Amino acid sequence: MKKPKLRELGEAVKALVRGPATDPFPARPHVPFPSFRGKVKYSKDDCIGCGACAEVCPSQCITVTDDVSSDPPMRRFEQYWAACIFCGQCQLNCTTEKGVRLTSEWDLACFDRTGCIESVEKPLVLCEVCRSVIGCRDHLLWVAERLGAKRYANPTLILLADGEMGLVGAPTPRDPDRPLDRGDTLRVLCPSCRRAAVLREAWGA
Ligand code: SF4
Ligand code: SF4
Repeated sequence: MKKPKLRELGEAVKALVRGPATDPFPARPHVPFPSFRGKVKYSKDDCIGCGACAEVCPSQCITVTDDVSSDPPMRRFEQYWAACIFCGQCQLNCTTEKGVRLTSEWDLACFDRTGCIESVEKPLVLCEVCRSVIGCRDHLLWVAERLGAKRYANPTLILLADGEMGLVGAPTPRDPDRPLDRGDTLRVLCPSCRRAAVLREAWGA
């Protein structure tokens, strides 16, 4: 058997004195480095429900489900972290820049992958006439805030943003059999119903 080289012997002596260079986990808790990309977490306060994170997710592990029958109607985001590749695109492209973050949580082992879900729910705004989804309430308010006075060009944004400040009362009930007309323009409407109301007003169509 060959004698060990002197350099290797020196390394062995140093390791004995200094201790191992590898992470001592599980003897001591592992502390990830600052830029580590771990479990994805939503912030209920900072997420506006725009859906950009789901659009850019390369592994398509974020699903968006609109429940229009619940009271109030809700949009639910579910992120399946068992299928996540921790690329960070959701955080990088988040509209508010803080709605979703990759945390330093790394110990994600589980026995049942169906429970590996991080979720957030945001209230939806529906068209007052056809009940189709316009968007998440927080998203529309976020847009209205950034538009400032320009939001007064859009009745839906006026009603939502001014309603938030208590300046607008509850909508008056409308006869569902009556065709859309001028009186409906100051309602929360989806683009199709708004177009129908404006065209009827302009052209009588
Ligand atoms: S605000 Fe950010 S986290 Fe929330 S839905 Fe939009 S992109 Fe996703
Ligand atoms: S880190 Fe990447 S794969 Fe994981 S949820 Fe975000 S975008 Fe999708």
